[in-house]
Amino acid sequence: MVASLILVRLGLRGGDGLPAMEVLDRLAAALARALGVNCHVDTCFLDVTGDFDELRAQAYSTAILARLSSRAPNAGTALIGVTDLDLYVPVLTFVFGEAQLNGPCAVVSAHRLKDEYYGLPANEAALDARLVKETLHELGHTQGLKHCVDWHCVMSTAHSVERIDVRQAAFCRQCAERFRCI
Ligand SMILES: [Zn+2]
Ligand SMILES: [Zn+2]
Repeated sequence: MVASLILVRLGLRGGDGLPAMEVLDRLAAALARALGVNCHVDTCFLDVTGDFDELRAQAYSTAILARLSSRAPNAGTALIGVTDLDLYVPVLTFVFGEAQLNGPCAVVSAHRLKDEYYGLPANEAALDARLVKETLHELGHTQGLKHCVDWHCVMSTAHSVERIDVRQAAFCRQCAERFRCI
């Protein structure tokens, strides 16, 4: 059971990839509302330059999770890194995020959640909605939840923003029960 959430901004030395503070503030408010838990944004940011692959122009999400877990939060607190950098794991072209299954840490990328990435005008509301869904999804994994077959459940798999848009910003009844019980 998650009692509180801490959001940490992740970026490169010099500030590239750091998400805007307003985006994180809105995300924190939405998560607090959705889950009924405390959620705050860390004022410091975490430098993930060491996890950035210059050739791929992407950051290695599993390495970021290891970096985050070295700042192990108290029991009941989940630590979620949020970045504008594109993320990858070696076997996949990209990932929207990654979490430690039954662990306290997760990482989420806003890079491919932005309409600008697809050549469209910026859409703040769409970005906010996708970021909440993706963060809830990764948070579900930290609580031991696996993928759900219900396309509307936030725990369904999504490899495109179109599929993220189909999801609701909520767990289906079965996942919600497991989320609260674990
Ligand atoms: Zn997943
Ligand atoms: Zn579900």
